[in-house]
Amino acid sequence: MGLLHTIKNFFGPKANTTNNNKTHFAHGEDFAINTRSISHNVKKVTQRLTETRYEAYLVGGGVRDLLLHKKPKDFDVATNATPEQVRKQFRNCRIIGRRFKLAHVYFKDEIIEVATFRAAHHSKKSETHLSDHGMILRDNNYGDLEEDAWRRDFTINALYYDLQNDIIVDYTGGLDDITARHIRIIGDAGQRYREDPVRMLRALRFAAKLDFTIEPHTEAPLAELKNLLWNIPPARLFEEVLKLFFTGHAYQAYQVLSKYDFLGLLFPQTDQCLKQDPQFKTLLEQALQNTDQRIAQDLSINPAFLLAVFLWGPFQTELKEQQKHEKKIFIALQNASEIIIRKQLETIAIPRRFTQIIKEIWDLQYRLPKRHGKRALQTLSLPRFRAAYDFLLLRASIDAKWQELANWWTEFQKVDADEQEAMIKSLMPKTSRTRTPKQKNQP
Ligand code: ATP
Ligand code: MG
Repeated sequence: MGLLHTIKNFFGPKANTTNNNKTHFAHGEDFAINTRSISHNVKKVTQRLTETRYEAYLVGGGVRDLLLHKKPKDFDVATNATPEQVRKQFRNCRIIGRRFKLAHVYFKDEIIEVATFRAAHHSKKSETHLSDHGMILRDNNYGDLEEDAWRRDFTINALYYDLQNDIIVDYTGGLDDITARHIRIIGDAGQRYREDPVRMLRALRFAAKLDFTIEPHTEAPLAELKNLLWNIPPARLFEEVLKLFFTGHAYQAYQVLSKYDFLGLLFPQTDQCLKQDPQFKTLLEQALQNTDQRIAQDLSINPAFLLAVFLWGPFQTELKEQQKHEKKIFIALQNASEIIIRKQLETIAIPRRFTQIIKEIWDLQYRLPKRHGKRALQTLSLPRFRAAYDFLLLRASIDAKWQELANWWTEFQKVDADEQEAMIKSLMPKTSRTRTPKQKNQP
């Protein structure tokens, strides 16, 4: 019995009567899929559903990454069971979501998201509501496997893997695009970007993350439609910023965003400053590479640090403005950071817990040079000292002017209390405020 026959039997008449001649089935085995990197919980969920005679597939980024032999971040499950039907199968299951309902199956260390097949908004059964800009506002219309594939964003994200039978289902040509390393939008690019402008950012993100090329049809409308991103709520854009810059390919993402002139849509002030200040550009590029390196080494990262770098150039420009009429440096600092952050929040909603840290990192850059008396020990005991010191190291790595101060702090942290005292004493005598208002080491 040939493969095709087996598949026809397995999928039933639907698979044979599909109106798309590109429909393709393949064996996972042929792509050397490593099923050991699939979580045990995912296997349990799909197995339970298929045993109950529902269809259940892995889909999305997890399947794409399996095919590329990358470690999948997470797995989504797609099924023809409704969320209520899914819930009946699992004790540990909750239905979530307003825009569309999803079932979450809870395990000790993992939540598996199970989504019911959905149809595209333009399908006949659709109940989708569109905004004035043509954006999808609400859609909860269920569909079948094929409809579910066509409503997804890119062909490489619309591959379904039937674990139990080791079969990959491909309606949109995703397998070919995986091989050719192409990002290809499903359907008409302009229409799909209008429906959801975030897809443009996603195209750039996947190009960066996977080192794929955006194929011409997918690429063509980007320049014309990129301004639609101004209509996206800042909270959603912040989610995208996290995925762009904090998942191990920040430098690539920055390169791709710059190439397509999208950086200004996320960080308008940064974009402006980069064009005028080559040193700031070097600083940011270094920080992006450091972030990627830390993630590659499984070290912890706080998004506030890189965000503080993104806005450091604009912040310094604003600080100079403030200092024209405000002589007290710490008031000028506070004003400048308020202004820059408020402006940034218009495009991406950085949560307060991060903006607070950003301000503290900046503020500390002006406290680190002040080390006389008890100041050095006070600064060292601050919760944000470590981040601020790392920030100083970064600045020193691209500007020799800060090297001495950075070395001093490196040494200061290593030595015992007596030596710390000696280090403070051996500093140059404190300059008198009245005679020289400008400190030697003002940033
Ligand atoms: P990542 O590895 O970054 O998680 P992903 O492809 O899994 O990548 P998700 O945002 O987790 O991305 O989305 C899961 C799947 O849902 C995608 O693979 C895609 O099929 C579909 N999807 C997500 N966002 C959209 C969108 N805006 N339009 C259409 N389909 C989407
Ligand atoms: Mg995902």
